Amino acid sequence: MDKQLQDGLRRQILELRSGLLTQLAQQRGGVVGRAEAAAHFQHAEDSPAQVNTERDLEFALDERELSEVAELDAALQRLDTGSYGQCVDCSEPIALPRLQATPQVARCLACQTQKESQS
Ligand SMILES: [Zn+2]
Repeated sequence: MDKQLQDGLRRQILELRSGLLTQLAQQRGGVVGRAEAAAHFQHAEDSPAQVNTERDLEFALDERELSEVAELDAALQRLDTGSYGQCVDCSEPIALPRLQATPQVARCLACQTQKESQS
């Protein structure tokens, strides 16, 4: 993967990460309107249907976002070690459009599908 492309993806990951951390901080602080956090959350998500009520949102958010932060961290680590862009399961290169859409993605589509069907 060329360096410029990799740098762009790294920036994208860092931005996603700081956005998530800001959201978490806002929730923990509890002062900044939750509606604002919710709006941000739904904006960041392509499937707002997953979250039905504000209550669900409240419960879902922390765990979900923490695991997203962990995924982003893992992706940054792969960038550092040079394994970024390779599927963690089969080591095949992950399709670029997939990386650009979801830069923290760890698996190629085939492995991801397989993993999801197993769990
Ligand atoms: Zn794979």
